[in-house]
Amino acid sequence: MSDEEKKKLQRMSEALRTGATMLPDQCPVCGSPLFKIKDETWCLNCNRQVVIVKEGEEAPNLVDTNLLGDVEVTALEKLQDINQQVKNEKDPEKLQELGSLISTWLEVLEKLKRIRKP
Ligand SMILES: [Zn+2]
Repeated sequence: MSDEEKKKLQRMSEALRTGATMLPDQCPVCGSPLFKIKDETWCLNCNRQVVIVKEGEEAPNLVDTNLLGDVEVTALEKLQDINQQVKNEKDPEKLQELGSLISTWLEVLEKLKRIRKP
């Protein structure tokens, strides 16, 4: 038995001892049985967390939260940019344009908040 296999078996028995349960699902990468550890699904062969999305199901929160967080960071960065431009801008037409951009990004942030807390 290779060292890698020994380590894998060690991880599995360690997980089972600490209350993990084996799932009927298989790792999409290596085909090993998946384990439920606390509220997370792990492939102990790949030694990484797996997110299972069944057909017709919404993507789990983990994915959503990451994406939404990313969008939020982008929106905040844009607002900062635009705010900087507004400070240096004197042309009323340009200011109006920048103002509507600000409200667009604020709307994005508002929507993000609503999606997170239904
Ligand atoms: Zn795997």
